[in-house]
Amino acid sequence: MRKILIVGAGQSGLQLALGLQARGYEVSVVSNRSPQDVRDGKVMSSQCMFHDSLQLERDRGLAFWEQDCPPVEGISFTVPHPEQAGVKALAWSHRLDRIAQSVDQRVKVPGWMAEFERRGGRILYKDAEIDDLEAWSQQQDLVIVAAGKGAIAKMFERDAGRSPYDRPQRALALTYVHGMRPREAHSAVNFNLIPGVGEYFVFPALTTSGPCEIMVFEGIPGGPMDCWADVRTPADHLARSLEILRTFLPWEAERCTQVELTDANGILSGAFPPTVRRPVGRLPSGRAVMGMADAVLLNDPITGQGSNNAAKFADAVERAIVAHGDAPFDAAFMQDTFEGFWERYGTHVCAWTNAMLAPPPPHVMQLLGTAAAVPAVARRIVNGFNDPTDFSRFFMSPERSEAYLAEVAPAQAEAA
Ligand SMILES: Cc1cc2nc3c(=O)[nH]c(=O)nc-3n(C[C@H](O)[C@H](O)[C@H](O)COP(=O)(O)OP(=O)(O)OC[C@H]3O[C@@H](n4cnc5c(N)ncnc54)[C@H](O)[C@@H]3O)c2cc1C
Repeated sequence: MRKILIVGAGQSGLQLALGLQARGYEVSVVSNRSPQDVRDGKVMSSQCMFHDSLQLERDRGLAFWEQDCPPVEGISFTVPHPEQAGVKALAWSHRLDRIAQSVDQRVKVPGWMAEFERRGGRILYKDAEIDDLEAWSQQQDLVIVAAGKGAIAKMFERDAGRSPYDRPQRALALTYVHGMRPREAHSAVNFNLIPGVGEYFVFPALTTSGPCEIMVFEGIPGGPMDCWADVRTPADHLARSLEILRTFLPWEAERCTQVELTDANGILSGAFPPTVRRPVGRLPSGRAVMGMADAVLLNDPITGQGSNNAAKFADAVERAIVAHGDAPFDAAFMQDTFEGFWERYGTHVCAWTNAMLAPPPPHVMQLLGTAAAVPAVARRIVNGFNDPTDFSRFFMSPERSEAYLAEVAPAQAEAA
């Protein structure tokens, strides 16, 4: 039986561990937090996952919360008027073809850890260091580092050619609340783009105390939404969140007259640079370990892709391991597995996400504007969140977007 050790009990590490375990591999997981630490700790993400990623969990029998978790049925897009307070310059929404869902990682991770142990898996509670990786790489057929933003991921060299930013592009904050007035018509990720200020999006989720709404703030550094440094208490954090909404997005503030924090740990603020790293980590001995998901492909949350990418990356690694049979898991295996995923998927997520961090170019504004009048365009943009590879075909370049609009919305394309 081949032995695989995974450092990091997050979205990718646990999904892969449970997937390989079901296929008969001897899998060990190393976690620097116990299930109780995770459940009682701070929120880490807004973790909205779209259909194809949710399906990977269903396929592995891991969608334990899908009946309890409220569905995200669509996506709305709003730009406030730059001069008239309280007026929307652009607003549209469309249903997703199939629902998305967000299960708080404080619920999911302890649940999956328990399931992994129930099925006979071994979890070692330890903050893994390089010496540990050396020891494990001698005992195991393959060591995978899925430590997310953990410091150990720095052992993988930054790939400057694939990382256009070397500093954080947004000041991030999360606020988990109960009591928000539901959106009319259908539930959705309400995405608001405030030019020069940042983005705010909000959607239903399942947290430790039941259904909730997650508010996500993406402030442009140095701007008015980069405003979390002086916040000291959870109550201050909620008050600051509501102040932002009242100032820039009164239609969102109106939904929040009765809100309260889900719990004192339902808040987060921070910032990190989106970074692509090289997938093969060399230990002092020369042995190789493999990086997976955020550890080597870290995106800003602006497009809500990190957990989706983690699920799909873990699926790609699982399939590559199985296809490799009894051959050695050497550096070439690690590099080829990463490159295959990068070419097919990762590069599209990074390109689109990094593009959304820059001011939108005219062809993107034209597409977003046309979506308000032409439902087919709105539908395609909305479903791109499930399959971001589609954006390269109609969204990412002026030529492709022009050709697409000429096909589906000739009147709008001519007027531009
Ligand atoms: C503000 C914010 C909002 C987000 N919203 C979304 C969203 O809406 N949709 C979406 O798809 N993604 C979202 N994400 C991203 C998503 O949460 C991550 O991309 C995803 O969790 C990455 O999975 P992972 O397995 O790579 O790492 P993680 O899930 O981060 O897991 C890594 C684990 O490794 C552990 N660890 C770290 N170092 C060590 C060590 N040395 N030894 C042992 N264990 C270690 C950590 O404790 C952690 O449990 C968001 C992220 C942020 C910050």
